[in-house]
Amino acid sequence: MAQVQRMSRLMVKTLRDDPADAETLSHKLLVRAGYVRRNSAGIWTWLPLGKKVLDNISRVVREEMDAIGAQEVLLPALLPKEPYEASARWEEYGDLLFRLKDRKGGEYLLGPTHEEIFTLVVKDQVASYKDLPVMLYQIQTKYRDEARPRSGVLRGREFQMKDSYSFDTTDEGLAESYRLHREAYQKIFARLGLDYRIVSAVSGAMGGSASEEFLAPAAAGEDTFVDCPACDYAANTEAVTFKLTPVEAEHGPVEELDTPDTPTIETLAEHLGVPASATLKNLLVKVDGEIVAVGVPGDREVDLGKLGEHLAPAVVELVTAEDFEGRGDLVRGYVGPQGLEKVRYIADPRVAPGTSWITGANKINTHAKNVVAGRDFEVDDYLDVVVVEEGDPCPQCGTGLKLDRAIEIGHIFQLGRKYADTFQLDVLGQQGKPVRVTMGSYGIGVSRAVAALAEQSADEQGLCWPKEIAPADVHVVAAGKALQTELALDVSQKLGAAGVRVLVDDRAGVSPGVKFTDAELIGVPKILVAGRRSAEGVLELKDRRTGEREELTVDEAIARLTA
Ligand code: ATP
Ligand code: MG
Repeated sequence: MAQVQRMSRLMVKTLRDDPADAETLSHKLLVRAGYVRRNSAGIWTWLPLGKKVLDNISRVVREEMDAIGAQEVLLPALLPKEPYEASARWEEYGDLLFRLKDRKGGEYLLGPTHEEIFTLVVKDQVASYKDLPVMLYQIQTKYRDEARPRSGVLRGREFQMKDSYSFDTTDEGLAESYRLHREAYQKIFARLGLDYRIVSAVSGAMGGSASEEFLAPAAAGEDTFVDCPACDYAANTEAVTFKLTPVEAEHGPVEELDTPDTPTIETLAEHLGVPASATLKNLLVKVDGEIVAVGVPGDREVDLGKLGEHLAPAVVELVTAEDFEGRGDLVRGYVGPQGLEKVRYIADPRVAPGTSWITGANKINTHAKNVVAGRDFEVDDYLDVVVVEEGDPCPQCGTGLKLDRAIEIGHIFQLGRKYADTFQLDVLGQQGKPVRVTMGSYGIGVSRAVAALAEQSADEQGLCWPKEIAPADVHVVAAGKALQTELALDVSQKLGAAGVRVLVDDRAGVSPGVKFTDAELIGVPKILVAGRRSAEGVLELKDRRTGEREELTVDEAIARLTA
């Protein structure tokens, strides 16, 4: 017997108008359909319908985590500060942490994520390599004092996360635990009915699949990613790399150009009547205190984050006026790579050997043309450091890339020995000597997934849930007359007995129009109406997504809904 929930008894108050503070579709609809209620910024109450969806997602997550042999635990959310001091995250997290004191003045935090505590649990519970690998998970409330808690439950300050952690003795073991998680995530998101992409979370420079994000494309997303319309390539914007292809071409000799008052690319391009893309922009930065020039086509922007990741652990900073003191070789606004002898020159692969440029002549008010890469200047390192743009070629197939918005719904990460080193997590190895453990950490935004699913599946009429996570399988609507209510309740009872989860609108004194509007808004995948032909025992079954309708007898409806 599945649950038959009567609307007349359900605590749900649907709203006709969007809440004033709501910007995203999911925020508006989840509030209007009575799934969630805002308590304060980024802090939400899950009302009965919302709680059902949240629990359905948790169930799918739990089933797939159990299937890969992960064991469920529940750690506290209220944590002492010491482990987070040991890992330096007490400092690093800064304002993101909710910090509090107990009555004795002891310092605590509300857990934003639990690597430290899981490491300590395993240190306490596991002694030998024979007890590994171990994978542990929890579905728990997390706390982060986000700077911009907006978009409803998409970015909360209190939210539900599934976090899991793997513990292995070898790198191969970690790779296997990571693979198992990756596959479990694919199954979870497929079952949830989410459209998603897997992208490498770090730039190509740091490489590999040591960290990947699961992104759900949606206009409300806060992440931008690149998506190839022709092949399966998808990536974080910082991970896209342009292929270095040397060019064979004849170029004239370098020629100086008189270019008064043209310290910027815009002023230069206008003065010469050439497109910005014909010019070479040389950005000066400091890398661990040393001045380095970075060359990119004049119409492109340098992505400092990308540059920083390429050069890590070196620290990249912008130059200031003082850095030019005593540097006669650096003419601000008129720098060109030819004649930059004492400066390391990094260039984007678009500045390939054989390409010709208009660039600074290292003289005030002067530029030079026909400055050819590989002939007039050498590039010390080719690194893709430009901000990716729509239409840039796909690294896999060359088609123009699209830039899309997405919601990060999951993240898998090979941590390695970072936390094991901090807490000296060793087990007794095969040779009788201690072996340091290697770890992975894996997150899914369970409450965020509710909003992501709402974003992807909703339409103008309201929410429209995929079957597995909908709050009911069918929404039975009694149009209003006693006879219709009787039929609606009768078919609901029978459906419940057949294992179908039913929400039945048996409210008296509510017009059929309001009931239909509410059914569309609440978004249960099938709507079964006891209306005009109730006297003959005929109901109308409507598909919430396609709008397709058919008339069925009670028995036919039951057969259809249990198929
Ligand atoms: P974001 O970049 O969106 O802040 P994150 O990189 O901080 O996410 P993780 O620390 O990897 O996220 O957390 C694991 C998962 O928890 C994320 O993939 C996301 O789905 C979810 N999550 C993170 N922060 C929030 C939040 N403030 N509200 C709801 N879900 C969140
Ligand atoms: Mg975050």
